[in-house]
Amino acid sequence: MASFDYDTEVRFSSAAPGYWSGRDVSPAQWADYRWQLKNRVQSLDRIEEHLRLSEEERSGILLTGTKLASAVTPHYFNLIEADNPGCPVRRQIIPRVEETFTDPHEMTDPCGEDSHMPVPGLVHRYPDRVLFLVTDRCASYCRYCTRSRVVSGVGEQHLETQWEAAFEYLENTPEVRDVLLSGGDPLLLSDARLERILSRLRRIEHIQFLRIGSRLPVFLPQRITPELCKILSRYHPLFLSIHCNHPRELTTEVREGLERLADAGIPLGNQSVLLRGVNDSVEVQRALVHKLLLCRVKPYYLYQCDLIKGSAHLRTPIQTGLEIIEGLRGHTTGYAIPQFVIDAPGGGGKIPLNPDYVVRSDDRNTLLRNYEGKEFLYPEGQELGSLLM
Ligand SMILES: *Cc1c(COP(=O)(O)O)cnc(C)c1O
Repeated sequence: MASFDYDTEVRFSSAAPGYWSGRDVSPAQWADYRWQLKNRVQSLDRIEEHLRLSEEERSGILLTGTKLASAVTPHYFNLIEADNPGCPVRRQIIPRVEETFTDPHEMTDPCGEDSHMPVPGLVHRYPDRVLFLVTDRCASYCRYCTRSRVVSGVGEQHLETQWEAAFEYLENTPEVRDVLLSGGDPLLLSDARLERILSRLRRIEHIQFLRIGSRLPVFLPQRITPELCKILSRYHPLFLSIHCNHPRELTTEVREGLERLADAGIPLGNQSVLLRGVNDSVEVQRALVHKLLLCRVKPYYLYQCDLIKGSAHLRTPIQTGLEIIEGLRGHTTGYAIPQFVIDAPGGGGKIPLNPDYVVRSDDRNTLLRNYEGKEFLYPEGQELGSLLM
């Protein structure tokens, strides 16, 4: 297995076949997303075949199975370091006992989605756009999943998308001009099902813009087949947001999948979640955003970790996010800089947070500081205005 010194370097590598070397897996099987899905690592036994687990992880795997299933595709599993419980990929995907602890501020539905559903499965929070939950399954389960109340299907609550009612709501709600397919992971649906959903949405005249949120380009790049890209390209303008948190996740296979999507004319964005011990430094974020640009993906949002139950061990202070943005802005390409946001607890939507570059201001002058800490005066007072006329 490759040793990973790529965490802060902008280099692409493949980890395959990694733990599967010598296991009689042909390259064709490895490249087949159905094989990847069938061979996901799910049980304690299977995980322990490869990783030396800590007590916190063993208990986590045993105790969290009735809340959020654990599953990891072989492709993604190969990115985990066998002997390092602090591995940034491992922290995202291998359960830990801390998931069973609930901080008093944490919730099962931290973004207040259930109370904003005019139809089950359709979240209508903002005036002109909706979030359409089209499946509760993912290829692998992020341990900080904001929708863990329904995702993976093992918890008490279930996603019960009312398909016909949802389409009728969209047909009868002309203010909706933007539909975002999410879940779960929409790209886990078959090509035929995805196409049925997209074509039905495209028949609605007031829907101008379609998007898909998917982590499959990262968890299961094999799913990004030429056929899938061809289908998606029939429904333009269609954007796709991926979810990538760490530079190591951008392997050569992932880059190739993203290139196929970009070549199909699909603008790509990335939504990452700021996670303690995963990507909470400027160095890691810089490598991540630079690698994303090389994959033709625009960093879109950097999320403060939602107050989802059992995620306190992965959450950072708000200040960390501000410091990361400050460490990027001005120091690197503007296109590489995501917007740091908090999805407001209770359903207020995404709220942007920015470092403060205004040192002080009065009605005549604003004193600003730049990325180097140098100060500059921007005048706009009445007096000056009349001088210039
Ligand atoms: C994030 C989100 C959207 C999309 O928000 P943008 O800022 O337009 O990307 C829409 N609806 C809901 C409920 C969301 O959580």
